[in-house]
Amino acid sequence: MVSREVQAHDTVVRFGNASVGGNQFAVIAGPCSVESEQQLLSVAEVVKQHGAVALRGGAYKPRTSPYDFQGMGVEGLKLLKQASEMLNMPTVSEVMEVSQMETMCEYIDCLQIGARNMQNYALLKAVGESKKPVLLKRGLSATIEELLLAAEYIYDAGNPNIILCERGIRTFETATRNTLDLNAVAFLKQKTHLPVVVDPSHGTGVRELVIPLSRAAAAVGADGIIVESHLNPGEALSDGHQALTGPMFQQLMQELKPFVEAA
Ligand code: PEP
Ligand code: MN
Repeated sequence: MVSREVQAHDTVVRFGNASVGGNQFAVIAGPCSVESEQQLLSVAEVVKQHGAVALRGGAYKPRTSPYDFQGMGVEGLKLLKQASEMLNMPTVSEVMEVSQMETMCEYIDCLQIGARNMQNYALLKAVGESKKPVLLKRGLSATIEELLLAAEYIYDAGNPNIILCERGIRTFETATRNTLDLNAVAFLKQKTHLPVVVDPSHGTGVRELVIPLSRAAAAVGADGIIVESHLNPGEALSDGHQALTGPMFQQLMQELKPFVEAA
């Protein structure tokens, strides 16, 4: 059902005043994790000011170590809702398990399925039944075919509002956190009518590489990017090393202008 053979025209996914897909380039930005009211609001203001169309931020975090910050939970969701209302900016946040669905739907505009949950079929069915827009991230070792079949689960459960996200895959390379698979973007754009965005933050894991790979994502035909930003990355509770500072975010938007404005 997500194939171009079934539907030739691009699907546009709308949530709040944001839309992803079709003739535009959407920038979704915000911190990896919601950490406090001040942290979230200050970075949200900056990314909004420079042209982000939606605010990202994790409240339930899938951390490799159980001893690392696990997210603020429902308090984080409330802060996202508050920032969203103050800045007139819809939100994207990760739902990690089916039991969180009701709360997530109350506070969040677009539900992220993280890489580690791309093949959590119960969760895919639950977001499918909810009808909320979904940002589905490619699994760390998932093939493109497996990503498309994960999207089919959501579509088949009744929800066509799906944004696919290439966020880097595991390869033999260790110089960067992951290997951003831009082949996948070009391939997906031919194969499916769903919008495809790129996450250059997790795709590289290196702040200095985020702007060049964002430009590459736009050049290869992605419908947008989702990037991490923090006004004080040294103090960030997760993924500080890949977070764009405020000035770097401004620089990013400057460099993406031809794509954002062509839309
Ligand atoms: C995130 O977006 O912060 C995240 C955990 O992403 P991923 O699931 O791609 O690792
Ligand atoms: Mn992160």
